[in-house]
Amino acid sequence: MLNWMNPKLEVRACSGKGGHGVFARHPITEGERLAIFGGHIMRADEEPVFLANKQDFALQIDEQFVIGAKYENELDDTDFLNHSCNPNAGFKGQIFLVAMRSIEKDEEITFDYAMVLHETVGVEACEMDCLCGNSNCRGRITDNDWKIPELQRRYRGYFQWYLQEKINMILGRTDGDR
Ligand SMILES: [Zn+2]
Repeated sequence: MLNWMNPKLEVRACSGKGGHGVFARHPITEGERLAIFGGHIMRADEEPVFLANKQDFALQIDEQFVIGAKYENELDDTDFLNHSCNPNAGFKGQIFLVAMRSIEKDEEITFDYAMVLHETVGVEACEMDCLCGNSNCRGRITDNDWKIPELQRRYRGYFQWYLQEKINMILGRTDGDR
């Protein structure tokens, strides 16, 4: 196992979204740790794609680097966490996923890809349709979404560390206030 997942969570089949998601088996309290991501440190331009639909799974931790499975047999439960435009989970640091609010039993655990994605020189831009179904759905997810001021406010303190630092610079805050 490359990753740790809170035992209150489990992978379940669900419609759309690649066919699987991570769901709460028990209620979760705000701030509770949901997952710790591990794996191989790889340059973003070396990130492998898996499964028939050529999905990539690794977690971006820097403009140039990702962490995750290098081989398909290393895919883990945490690799089935899905995006939502109205997520209930966010990042602390680079590899910790925590609950941004209390989560009820049977809710799907989601984060917003805007919290992790940044364009990488030499790597094809990431762009995908979103089918999350929330009233605030952006419809299209790109690796420039972290630049959206409304998201910078909403996810403050829950972006990947390298993105939060960039955002703090843009907003003129250097105190790392989280
Ligand atoms: Zn959406």
